[in-house]
Amino acid sequence: MKAKDYLELEAAYGAHNYHPLPVVVAKAKGVWVWDVDGKKYIDMLSSYSAINQGHLNDRIVKAAVEQMKRVTLTSRAFSNDRMGGFLKKLCEVSGMEMALPMNTGAEAVETAIKLARRYAHTKKGVSEDRGEIVVCENNFHGRTTTIVSFSSDPGSRKGFGPFSRGFVTIPYNDPKAFERAINKDTMAILVEPIQGEAGINVPSPGYLRELRRICTEKKVLLILDEIQTGFCRTGKMFAFEHEGMKPDILCVGKALGGGIYPVSACLSSREIMSVFTPGSHGSTFGGNPLACAIAEESLNVLIDEKLAEKSTIMGEYFAGKLKQVKTDKIKEIRHKGLLIGVEFHLGPDETVRPICEKLMAHGVLAKDTHEKTIRFAPPLVITKEEIDWAMERIKTVFEAA
Ligand SMILES: *Cc1c(COP(=O)(O)O)cnc(C)c1O
Repeated sequence: MKAKDYLELEAAYGAHNYHPLPVVVAKAKGVWVWDVDGKKYIDMLSSYSAINQGHLNDRIVKAAVEQMKRVTLTSRAFSNDRMGGFLKKLCEVSGMEMALPMNTGAEAVETAIKLARRYAHTKKGVSEDRGEIVVCENNFHGRTTTIVSFSSDPGSRKGFGPFSRGFVTIPYNDPKAFERAINKDTMAILVEPIQGEAGINVPSPGYLRELRRICTEKKVLLILDEIQTGFCRTGKMFAFEHEGMKPDILCVGKALGGGIYPVSACLSSREIMSVFTPGSHGSTFGGNPLACAIAEESLNVLIDEKLAEKSTIMGEYFAGKLKQVKTDKIKEIRHKGLLIGVEFHLGPDETVRPICEKLMAHGVLAKDTHEKTIRFAPPLVITKEEIDWAMERIKTVFEAA
């Protein structure tokens, strides 16, 4: 079969809820992927930062294969010998006290919402039929019915009502607006340290610290969604470390599974997590031994291969090279570590999609985020030589744009 045949097959039987670049991947290793015709590309998306450790990282593959020969699923009806050790490691790495394992990012966010609500109802005296969680404009936290209820993106929301109540939207990067939004029913604020899907929106320095101060003063829980920014993507294990603060509740996912398996978690303090009691929340696959074995090794790889430092160094190098490209089409380059957004000057109806298609033709896989911005977020194992390889092609395409 040719690429065209695979695309037609997928279009015939798969729901059209995505508009992918027309590349049909058949194989991958490190920062590289190959299509069905054997053409090589560099992966500049890492599945939205789920592949920070690189495709098919040897150690993570080995951990997965070994665990597959022992036991893969017990459900939470029984305990397994992989979960405790993994959760301890995850808590140590994040500085949190307890974790609740789930599978996808959206489930980790749902868990955080339930946790904040139950905490406010049982410990803060907010009555059962009231309570508000503050969220930010242009947020992205996932695709469940509750989460799209507080999305400001029409594409994510339209036609999916009736929507869940209990959310209040404020502008991003505006602590004063947050202070004004707080009332006696405010339970929490849910926020991304950097808005990835909104176009790599990096807030002002001190933003998270200021939210922390307000939350502590007003006794409101601070929930950070580090599903995209976590696990060394921005040059620290977690983006909140740049600000020397800590959230009350932390959502993680994506790279926790090392690009091999969906693993997510919601972390918090012992006191807050104690509101969950048997029967109040769960998941058949959450915390399964295969997931735990893979995730524990995914964490080990991040630490042993010093991927946070690499992200900082390579992020500076890559962004520096991008800034040298001679074109008046680029409006702004924003980045933290290897989470890089290149925003273009375009007409109102134009998007960067045609540029992404040209990059693809040259062997560089990158995707638009929020219409006018291209995201460059390669696996963190990328080398200078590999960045140079990509830059040669990016330069050609951008200068012709
Ligand atoms: C990807 C993402 C999610 C959702 O994760 P899924 O695994 O796709 O459900 C939530 N929040 C942020 C910030 C993300 O980038």
